[in-house]
Amino acid sequence: MADRQLIEPDLDFVKKVIGFGGETLKKCFQCATCSVVCNLSPDNEPFPRKEMIWAQWGLKDKLLKDPDIWLCHQCNDCSVYCPRGAKPGDVLAAIRNYSFMHFSFPSFMGKLLSEGKYLPLLLGFPIVLLLFLLGVTGHLNIPEGEIVFEKFVPHYIVDPVFILVSIFVAISLAIGVTRFWKGMSEGVFPSASKGLSIGDFVKSHVIPTLVDIVKHSKFMDCDRNRFRYLAHLLIFYSFAALAVVTGVVFFGIYFLGLEHMLPLAQWNPVKLLANLGAIALITGCTIVISNRLKEDEAKSKSTYLDWVFIIIVYLVAISGLLTEIVRLVNIPVLAYSIYFIHLVLVFYLIAYLPFSKFAHMIYRTVALVYASYSGREK
Ligand code: SF4
Ligand code: SF4
Repeated sequence: MADRQLIEPDLDFVKKVIGFGGETLKKCFQCATCSVVCNLSPDNEPFPRKEMIWAQWGLKDKLLKDPDIWLCHQCNDCSVYCPRGAKPGDVLAAIRNYSFMHFSFPSFMGKLLSEGKYLPLLLGFPIVLLLFLLGVTGHLNIPEGEIVFEKFVPHYIVDPVFILVSIFVAISLAIGVTRFWKGMSEGVFPSASKGLSIGDFVKSHVIPTLVDIVKHSKFMDCDRNRFRYLAHLLIFYSFAALAVVTGVVFFGIYFLGLEHMLPLAQWNPVKLLANLGAIALITGCTIVISNRLKEDEAKSKSTYLDWVFIIIVYLVAISGLLTEIVRLVNIPVLAYSIYFIHLVLVFYLIAYLPFSKFAHMIYRTVALVYASYSGREK
Protein backbone atom coordinates (compact mmCIF):
# COMPACT_ATOMS: atom_id res chain seq x y z
CA MET A 1 0.00 0.00 0.00
CA ALA A 2 1.29 3.47 -0.86
CA ASP A 3 2.54 5.61 2.01
CA ARG A 4 -0.10 7.83 3.47
CA GLN A 5 0.64 11.52 3.71
CA LEU A 6 -0.93 13.84 6.25
CA ILE A 7 -1.99 17.06 4.59
CA GLU A 8 -2.08 20.15 6.75
CA PRO A 9 -3.94 22.88 4.86
CA ASP A 10 -3.17 26.47 5.73
CA LEU A 11 -6.55 28.15 5.40
CA ASP A 12 -5.14 31.58 6.10
CA PHE A 13 -2.82 31.11 3.10
CA VAL A 14 -5.81 30.20 0.88
CA LYS A 15 -7.61 33.35 2.05
CA LYS A 16 -4.55 35.49 1.32
CA VAL A 17 -4.14 34.01 -2.18
CA ILE A 18 -7.82 34.73 -2.82
CA GLY A 19 -7.28 38.27 -1.52
CA PHE A 20 -4.35 38.78 -3.91
CA GLY A 21 -6.58 38.03 -6.91
CA GLY A 22 -6.77 34.23 -6.89
CA GLU A 23 -10.48 34.10 -6.02
CA THR A 24 -11.19 31.62 -8.83
CA LEU A 25 -8.85 28.91 -7.54
CA LYS A 26 -11.65 26.75 -6.15
CA LYS A 27 -13.23 26.38 -9.58
CA CYS A 28 -10.42 24.14 -10.83
CA PHE A 29 -11.45 20.50 -11.42
CA GLN A 30 -7.97 19.28 -12.41
CA CYS A 31 -8.53 18.65 -16.11
CA ALA A 32 -4.89 19.69 -16.85
CA THR A 33 -5.76 21.67 -19.98
CA CYS A 34 -3.74 24.56 -18.56
CA SER A 35 -0.57 22.48 -18.24
CA VAL A 36 -0.98 21.22 -21.79
CA VAL A 37 -1.41 24.65 -23.36
CA CYS A 38 1.34 26.36 -21.37
CA ASN A 39 4.34 26.81 -23.65
CA LEU A 40 6.70 27.45 -20.73
CA SER A 41 5.83 24.43 -18.64
CA PRO A 42 8.30 21.51 -18.49
CA ASP A 43 7.00 18.08 -19.57
CA ASN A 44 8.02 16.58 -16.26
CA GLU A 45 5.51 17.58 -13.54
CA PRO A 46 4.18 20.51 -15.55
CA PHE A 47 2.57 23.61 -14.09
CA PRO A 48 0.05 25.16 -13.36
CA ARG A 49 -2.33 22.20 -12.72
CA LYS A 50 -0.40 20.91 -9.73
CA GLU A 51 -0.13 24.42 -8.26
CA MET A 52 -3.91 24.80 -8.57
CA ILE A 53 -4.57 21.77 -6.41
CA TRP A 54 -1.83 22.68 -3.95
CA ALA A 55 -3.43 26.11 -3.62
CA GLN A 56 -6.90 24.60 -3.14
CA TRP A 57 -5.52 22.37 -0.42
CA GLY A 58 -3.67 25.26 1.22
CA LEU A 59 -0.25 23.64 0.83
CA LYS A 60 1.63 26.82 1.48
CA ASP A 61 5.04 25.27 2.09
CA LYS A 62 5.03 23.35 -1.18
CA LEU A 63 4.06 26.46 -3.14
CA LEU A 64 6.54 28.79 -1.49
CA LYS A 65 9.36 26.38 -2.34
CA ASP A 66 8.16 25.80 -5.88
CA PRO A 67 10.25 27.59 -8.56
CA ASP A 68 7.52 26.84 -11.13
CA ILE A 69 5.28 29.65 -9.89
CA TRP A 70 8.03 32.01 -11.10
CA LEU A 71 8.59 30.25 -14.43
CA CYS A 72 5.09 31.42 -15.37
CA HIS A 73 5.21 34.75 -17.23
CA GLN A 74 1.47 35.39 -16.83
CA CYS A 75 0.62 35.34 -20.51
CA ASN A 76 -2.76 33.82 -19.56
CA ASP A 77 -2.81 31.32 -22.44
CA CYS A 78 -3.93 28.81 -19.80
CA SER A 79 -6.74 31.03 -18.51
CA VAL A 80 -8.09 31.46 -22.02
CA TYR A 81 -8.43 27.69 -22.44
CA CYS A 82 -9.48 26.75 -18.90
CA PRO A 83 -12.98 25.21 -19.22
CA ARG A 84 -13.90 26.20 -15.66
CA GLY A 85 -12.85 29.84 -15.67
CA ALA A 86 -10.41 29.09 -12.85
CA LYS A 87 -7.90 31.64 -14.23
CA PRO A 88 -4.74 29.70 -13.37
CA GLY A 89 -2.61 32.60 -14.67
CA ASP A 90 -4.14 34.92 -12.05
CA VAL A 91 -3.89 32.29 -9.31
CA LEU A 92 -0.17 31.84 -9.97
CA ALA A 93 0.27 35.62 -9.93
CA ALA A 94 -1.50 35.76 -6.55
CA ILE A 95 0.77 33.00 -5.19
CA ARG A 96 3.82 34.91 -6.44
CA ASN A 97 2.63 38.01 -4.60
CA TYR A 98 2.17 36.00 -1.43
CA SER A 99 5.58 34.38 -1.96
CA PHE A 100 7.77 37.47 -2.30
CA MET A 101 6.00 39.16 0.60
CA HIS A 102 6.54 36.05 2.71
CA PHE A 103 10.29 36.07 2.01
CA SER A 104 10.75 39.85 2.14
CA PHE A 105 12.41 41.61 5.04
CA PRO A 106 11.09 43.37 7.10
CA SER A 107 7.84 41.55 6.46
CA PHE A 108 5.46 44.23 7.77
CA MET A 109 6.42 46.35 4.74
CA GLY A 110 4.82 43.78 2.46
CA LYS A 111 1.50 44.32 4.25
CA LEU A 112 1.79 48.11 3.89
CA LEU A 113 2.47 47.81 0.17
CA SER A 114 -0.32 45.34 -0.51
CA GLU A 115 -3.22 47.41 0.87
CA GLY A 116 -4.49 50.63 -0.64
CA LYS A 117 -5.30 52.16 2.74
CA TYR A 118 -1.57 52.50 3.46
CA LEU A 119 -0.76 54.35 0.22
CA PRO A 120 -1.09 57.84 1.82
CA LEU A 121 1.34 56.74 4.55
CA LEU A 122 3.84 55.36 2.02
CA LEU A 123 3.72 58.54 -0.07
CA GLY A 124 3.48 60.78 2.98
CA PHE A 125 6.78 59.51 4.41
CA PRO A 126 9.05 60.82 1.61
CA ILE A 127 7.01 64.04 1.40
CA VAL A 128 7.54 64.78 5.10
CA LEU A 129 11.18 63.67 4.98
CA LEU A 130 12.04 65.87 1.99
CA LEU A 131 10.13 68.86 3.38
CA PHE A 132 11.94 68.41 6.69
CA LEU A 133 15.37 68.24 5.04
CA LEU A 134 14.62 71.26 2.85
CA GLY A 135 13.32 73.15 5.89
CA VAL A 136 16.31 72.53 8.15
CA THR A 137 18.79 73.39 5.37
CA GLY A 138 16.94 76.61 4.47
CA HIS A 139 15.77 75.46 1.03
CA LEU A 140 12.03 75.53 1.58
CA ASN A 141 11.42 78.26 -0.97
CA ILE A 142 11.26 78.79 -4.72
CA PRO A 143 14.74 79.94 -5.81
CA GLU A 144 14.97 83.10 -7.88
CA GLY A 145 16.55 83.41 -11.32
CA GLU A 146 17.20 80.67 -13.85
CA ILE A 147 15.55 77.33 -13.02
CA VAL A 148 18.28 75.08 -11.62
CA PHE A 149 17.02 72.13 -9.55
CA GLU A 150 20.29 72.02 -7.68
CA LYS A 151 19.34 75.40 -6.12
CA PHE A 152 16.06 73.93 -4.83
CA VAL A 153 17.20 70.45 -3.72
CA PRO A 154 21.02 70.37 -3.58
CA HIS A 155 22.59 66.98 -4.26
CA TYR A 156 24.15 66.95 -0.78
CA ILE A 157 20.59 66.74 0.59
CA VAL A 158 19.00 64.29 -1.80
CA ASP A 159 21.93 61.98 -2.52
CA PRO A 160 22.49 60.77 1.07
CA VAL A 161 18.77 59.96 1.28
CA PHE A 162 18.91 57.82 -1.84
CA ILE A 163 22.24 56.23 -0.89
CA LEU A 164 20.80 55.14 2.48
CA VAL A 165 17.63 53.95 0.79
CA SER A 166 19.67 51.92 -1.73
CA ILE A 167 21.65 50.28 1.09
CA PHE A 168 18.39 49.37 2.85
CA VAL A 169 16.99 47.93 -0.39
CA ALA A 170 20.16 45.91 -1.06
CA ILE A 171 20.15 44.41 2.46
CA SER A 172 16.43 43.71 2.36
CA LEU A 173 16.67 42.00 -1.03
CA ALA A 174 19.73 39.98 -0.01
CA ILE A 175 17.86 38.60 3.02
CA GLY A 176 14.69 37.91 1.02
CA VAL A 177 16.49 36.22 -1.85
CA THR A 178 18.62 34.08 0.48
CA ARG A 179 15.47 32.83 2.24
CA PHE A 180 13.87 32.21 -1.15
CA TRP A 181 16.83 30.20 -2.52
CA LYS A 182 17.01 28.16 0.68
CA GLY A 183 13.28 27.46 0.42
CA MET A 184 13.55 26.25 -3.19
CA SER A 185 16.54 24.05 -2.29
CA GLU A 186 14.39 22.28 0.31
CA GLY A 187 11.36 22.05 -1.95
CA VAL A 188 9.85 19.68 -4.47
CA PHE A 189 12.60 20.26 -7.03
CA PRO A 190 15.89 20.03 -5.13
CA SER A 191 18.98 20.90 -7.08
CA ALA A 192 20.51 17.99 -9.02
CA SER A 193 23.81 19.71 -9.87
CA LYS A 194 25.24 20.52 -6.47
CA GLY A 195 28.98 20.85 -5.98
CA LEU A 196 29.65 23.32 -8.82
CA SER A 197 32.35 25.93 -8.30
CA ILE A 198 31.10 29.54 -8.25
CA GLY A 199 32.73 30.15 -11.61
CA ASP A 200 31.00 27.15 -13.23
CA PHE A 201 27.70 28.08 -11.58
CA VAL A 202 27.88 31.61 -13.01
CA LYS A 203 29.00 30.38 -16.44
CA SER A 204 26.47 27.56 -16.72
CA HIS A 205 23.40 29.02 -15.04
CA VAL A 206 23.61 32.74 -14.23
CA ILE A 207 24.90 34.07 -17.55
CA PRO A 208 22.56 32.02 -19.81
CA THR A 209 19.61 33.07 -17.63
CA LEU A 210 20.56 36.74 -17.84
CA VAL A 211 20.97 36.47 -21.62
CA ASP A 212 17.46 34.96 -21.82
CA ILE A 213 16.07 37.80 -19.72
CA VAL A 214 17.81 40.46 -21.79
CA LYS A 215 16.41 38.87 -24.95
CA HIS A 216 12.99 38.41 -23.34
CA SER A 217 12.86 35.00 -25.01
CA LYS A 218 10.27 33.54 -22.60
CA PHE A 219 7.76 36.25 -23.53
CA MET A 220 8.15 35.21 -27.17
CA ASP A 221 6.92 31.72 -26.28
CA CYS A 222 3.44 32.95 -25.31
CA ASP A 223 0.68 32.67 -27.89
CA ARG A 224 -1.73 35.28 -26.54
CA ASN A 225 -0.80 38.64 -25.15
CA ARG A 226 2.14 39.13 -27.51
CA PHE A 227 1.82 42.83 -26.68
CA ARG A 228 3.37 42.03 -23.30
CA TYR A 229 6.63 41.24 -25.07
CA LEU A 230 6.85 44.73 -26.55
CA ALA A 231 5.65 46.48 -23.39
CA HIS A 232 8.06 44.58 -21.15
CA LEU A 233 10.90 45.13 -23.57
CA LEU A 234 10.31 48.90 -23.59
CA ILE A 235 9.99 49.09 -19.81
CA PHE A 236 13.02 46.86 -19.23
CA TYR A 237 15.34 48.79 -21.55
CA SER A 238 14.07 52.17 -20.41
CA PHE A 239 14.93 51.26 -16.81
CA ALA A 240 18.34 50.09 -18.00
CA ALA A 241 18.88 53.40 -19.84
CA LEU A 242 17.76 55.47 -16.83
CA ALA A 243 20.00 53.43 -14.51
CA VAL A 244 22.98 54.13 -16.80
CA VAL A 245 22.11 57.85 -16.82
CA THR A 246 21.89 57.94 -13.01
CA GLY A 247 25.19 56.09 -12.67
CA VAL A 248 26.99 58.39 -15.14
CA VAL A 249 25.66 61.57 -13.48
CA PHE A 250 26.57 60.25 -10.02
CA PHE A 251 30.08 59.35 -11.19
CA GLY A 252 30.45 62.72 -12.94
CA ILE A 253 29.48 64.66 -9.81
CA TYR A 254 31.35 62.70 -7.16
CA PHE A 255 34.40 61.39 -8.99
CA LEU A 256 35.01 63.92 -11.77
CA GLY A 257 33.69 67.08 -10.08
CA LEU A 258 31.45 67.91 -13.06
CA GLU A 259 28.47 69.24 -11.13
CA HIS A 260 28.84 72.61 -12.91
CA MET A 261 27.62 70.83 -16.07
CA LEU A 262 24.14 70.38 -14.55
CA PRO A 263 21.57 70.74 -15.96
CA LEU A 264 22.95 68.88 -18.95
CA ALA A 265 22.60 70.47 -22.35
CA GLN A 266 19.89 68.99 -24.59
CA TRP A 267 22.42 67.62 -27.07
CA ASN A 268 24.48 65.90 -24.39
CA PRO A 269 24.45 62.12 -25.07
CA VAL A 270 23.55 61.41 -21.42
CA LYS A 271 20.59 63.79 -21.68
CA LEU A 272 19.52 62.22 -24.98
CA LEU A 273 19.65 58.77 -23.39
CA ALA A 274 17.58 60.02 -20.42
CA ASN A 275 14.93 61.49 -22.72
CA LEU A 276 14.85 58.36 -24.85
CA GLY A 277 14.49 56.23 -21.70
CA ALA A 278 11.62 58.38 -20.40
CA ILE A 279 9.77 58.21 -23.74
CA ALA A 280 10.25 54.42 -23.94
CA LEU A 281 9.00 54.07 -20.36
CA ILE A 282 5.90 56.15 -21.04
CA THR A 283 5.19 54.14 -24.22
CA GLY A 284 5.65 50.79 -22.43
CA CYS A 285 3.41 51.83 -19.52
CA THR A 286 0.77 53.19 -21.92
CA ILE A 287 0.62 49.81 -23.69
CA VAL A 288 0.35 47.95 -20.36
CA ILE A 289 -2.34 50.26 -18.97
CA SER A 290 -4.42 50.35 -22.13
CA ASN A 291 -4.33 46.56 -22.40
CA ARG A 292 -5.25 46.14 -18.75
CA LEU A 293 -8.24 48.43 -19.28
CA LYS A 294 -9.32 46.25 -22.21
CA GLU A 295 -8.80 43.02 -20.26
CA ASP A 296 -11.58 40.45 -20.39
CA GLU A 297 -12.31 39.96 -16.68
CA ALA A 298 -13.49 36.41 -17.37
CA LYS A 299 -9.89 35.55 -18.33
CA SER A 300 -7.76 37.82 -16.17
CA LYS A 301 -8.11 40.66 -13.72
CA SER A 302 -5.42 43.08 -12.54
CA THR A 303 -5.05 43.57 -8.80
CA TYR A 304 -4.24 46.55 -6.60
CA LEU A 305 -0.55 45.54 -6.59
CA ASP A 306 -0.51 45.47 -10.42
CA TRP A 307 -2.18 48.84 -10.73
CA VAL A 308 -0.32 50.77 -8.08
CA PHE A 309 3.04 49.66 -9.46
CA ILE A 310 2.39 50.52 -13.10
CA ILE A 311 0.77 53.84 -12.20
CA ILE A 312 3.71 54.88 -10.01
CA VAL A 313 6.17 53.95 -12.78
CA TYR A 314 4.03 55.88 -15.29
CA LEU A 315 3.93 58.94 -13.04
CA VAL A 316 7.69 58.77 -12.47
CA ALA A 317 8.30 58.89 -16.22
CA ILE A 318 5.70 61.59 -16.90
CA SER A 319 6.82 63.81 -14.00
CA GLY A 320 10.46 63.42 -15.10
CA LEU A 321 9.68 64.53 -18.63
CA LEU A 322 7.34 67.30 -17.47
CA THR A 323 10.02 68.63 -15.11
CA GLU A 324 12.28 69.18 -18.06
CA ILE A 325 9.60 70.65 -20.34
CA VAL A 326 8.41 73.14 -17.69
CA ARG A 327 12.02 74.14 -16.99
CA LEU A 328 12.55 74.84 -20.67
CA VAL A 329 9.40 76.99 -20.90
CA ASN A 330 10.57 78.68 -17.69
CA ILE A 331 7.71 78.41 -15.17
CA PRO A 332 9.66 78.17 -11.86
CA VAL A 333 6.80 77.37 -9.43
CA LEU A 334 5.52 74.60 -11.65
CA ALA A 335 8.98 73.24 -12.48
CA TYR A 336 10.09 73.03 -8.84
CA SER A 337 6.73 71.58 -7.72
CA ILE A 338 6.78 68.85 -10.38
CA TYR A 339 10.42 68.12 -9.55
CA PHE A 340 9.45 67.65 -5.89
CA ILE A 341 6.63 65.26 -6.88
CA HIS A 342 9.09 63.41 -9.14
CA LEU A 343 11.50 62.91 -6.23
CA VAL A 344 8.70 61.58 -4.00
CA LEU A 345 7.65 59.09 -6.68
CA VAL A 346 11.23 57.97 -7.32
CA PHE A 347 11.62 57.45 -3.57
CA TYR A 348 8.48 55.27 -3.59
CA LEU A 349 9.79 53.21 -6.49
CA ILE A 350 13.26 52.62 -5.05
CA ALA A 351 12.67 52.45 -1.27
CA TYR A 352 9.72 50.05 -1.54
CA LEU A 353 11.23 47.94 -4.34
CA PRO A 354 11.57 44.72 -2.25
CA PHE A 355 7.86 44.86 -1.35
CA SER A 356 6.26 45.98 -4.61
CA LYS A 357 5.81 44.31 -7.98
CA PHE A 358 9.28 45.55 -8.81
CA ALA A 359 10.54 42.70 -6.62
CA HIS A 360 9.16 40.23 -9.18
CA MET A 361 12.07 41.12 -11.43
CA ILE A 362 14.53 39.97 -8.76
CA TYR A 363 12.65 36.88 -7.53
CA ARG A 364 11.90 35.71 -11.06
CA THR A 365 15.55 36.05 -12.05
CA VAL A 366 16.61 34.02 -9.00
CA ALA A 367 13.95 31.38 -9.72
CA LEU A 368 15.05 31.12 -13.36
CA VAL A 369 18.67 30.65 -12.26
CA TYR A 370 17.49 28.01 -9.78
CA ALA A 371 15.41 26.29 -12.50
CA SER A 372 18.48 26.10 -14.70
CA TYR A 373 20.64 24.90 -11.77
CA SER A 374 18.18 22.21 -10.77
CA GLY A 375 17.42 21.10 -14.31
CA ARG A 376 13.85 22.41 -13.97
CA GLU A 377 13.44 23.86 -17.43
CA LYS A 378 11.34 23.13 -20.46
S1 SF4 B 1 -7.08 25.45 -13.88
FE1 SF4 B 1 -8.64 25.05 -15.42
S2 SF4 B 1 -7.50 24.11 -17.09
FE2 SF4 B 1 -6.19 23.96 -15.28
S3 SF4 B 1 -6.64 22.00 -14.35
FE3 SF4 B 1 -7.96 23.49 -13.38
S4 SF4 B 1 -9.86 23.43 -14.52
FE4 SF4 B 1 -8.33 22.45 -15.80
S1 SF4 C 1 -0.06 32.25 -17.56
FE1 SF4 C 1 1.06 31.57 -19.37
S2 SF4 C 1 3.08 31.03 -18.59
FE2 SF4 C 1 1.70 31.14 -16.84
S3 SF4 C 1 0.99 29.06 -16.51
FE3 SF4 C 1 -0.51 30.09 -17.81
S4 SF4 C 1 0.11 29.61 -19.90
FE4 SF4 C 1 1.86 29.15 -18.57
